[in-house]
Amino acid sequence: MKKHNFSAGPSILPQEVMQQASQGLIDFNHSGLSIMEISHRSKDFIEVMDQACALALELLGLDSNTYSALFLQGGASTQFVMAPYNFLKQKAAYLNTGTWASKAIKEAKLFGQVDEVASSKDQNFAYIPKGYTIPHDSDYFHCTSNNTIFGTQIQDLPETDVPVFCDMSSDIFSRVMDFSKFDLIYAGAQKNMGPAGTTLVVIKNELLGEAPRPIPSMLDYRVHQEKESMFNTPPVVAVYVSMLTLKWLKEKGGVSSIEKLNGEKAGQLYAEIDRNPLFKGFAHKEDRSMMNATFNLRDESQKSTFDALCKEAGINGINGHRSVGGYRASIYNAMPLESVQVLIEVMKEFERQQ
Ligand SMILES: *Cc1c(COP(=O)(O)O)cnc(C)c1O
Repeated sequence: MKKHNFSAGPSILPQEVMQQASQGLIDFNHSGLSIMEISHRSKDFIEVMDQACALALELLGLDSNTYSALFLQGGASTQFVMAPYNFLKQKAAYLNTGTWASKAIKEAKLFGQVDEVASSKDQNFAYIPKGYTIPHDSDYFHCTSNNTIFGTQIQDLPETDVPVFCDMSSDIFSRVMDFSKFDLIYAGAQKNMGPAGTTLVVIKNELLGEAPRPIPSMLDYRVHQEKESMFNTPPVVAVYVSMLTLKWLKEKGGVSSIEKLNGEKAGQLYAEIDRNPLFKGFAHKEDRSMMNATFNLRDESQKSTFDALCKEAGINGINGHRSVGGYRASIYNAMPLESVQVLIEVMKEFERQQ
């Protein structure tokens, strides 16, 4: 039986995509060859890469003359390094909203001064700081749109006149935003776009000019942009499955229609978290994430009972991250409303049994 998969990452992918991908792994486009065993320089694969890049920009509503989409390796964690390596001249402004933001800050400090403009560490990152100022002389401002571990999400981007960089690993393609406000967007595929192994980078072309220091080729955005993500062998399977997922999303009506479904799923789940006297939401209400709902039991001693009910219902992957405890239900784009309703039913059943 297929489980209800609430895993935070790697995470759920659409069943249709899984079917198509398994076909391509055996016989890609009726070529008699697997996608895994053809040259990345073949016409067939170049088409996959081109399609993936075009779909990414199209779904974000970005113009391909102004922005480039790249499929790189090394995860979002390598972007923590690449962004400052390529663009930090003197100082950069960082918003610290959690574990991933803190890791980005740590790497940036290797290259220059980091202004931590605000942090929510004082409350274990349960909220998004607001009302901070971004110094005008910053080389860029870096933020994390969705904090996968703590279940918070930025609702309003600050106004600033410096380039905006954003780690969108866990909410890319999940909601409508004015993406043209960003100069650099990156996202590890394994949360909301595809399997682990590739990272989408969307970069404003005008950002690519003279670099502040010599940069190794593999970490140089200019090299990857010029070579159209083919400087070295790309992770062909991860790019292929990401492309299929983006195609699936487009056929579903794109970001605006998935946003409605995501809102419905999150709305129903948070309503139950707030209603059910046995649970307590972790993140501040106004900053709650539509992708990762974090909540705790009011009485931790009931954990094994609730866990057993979840297991019985085929629910997978809702244990919270060790830094928050409790539970985290990741409800990415591919998660059907029905699975969320199964979890809600289990929470209700748990209450009835107490
Ligand atoms: C998972 C995650 C990362 C780390 O991604 P890797 O691909 O494992 O390097 C970074 N940022 C956010 C917001 C994440 O959710």
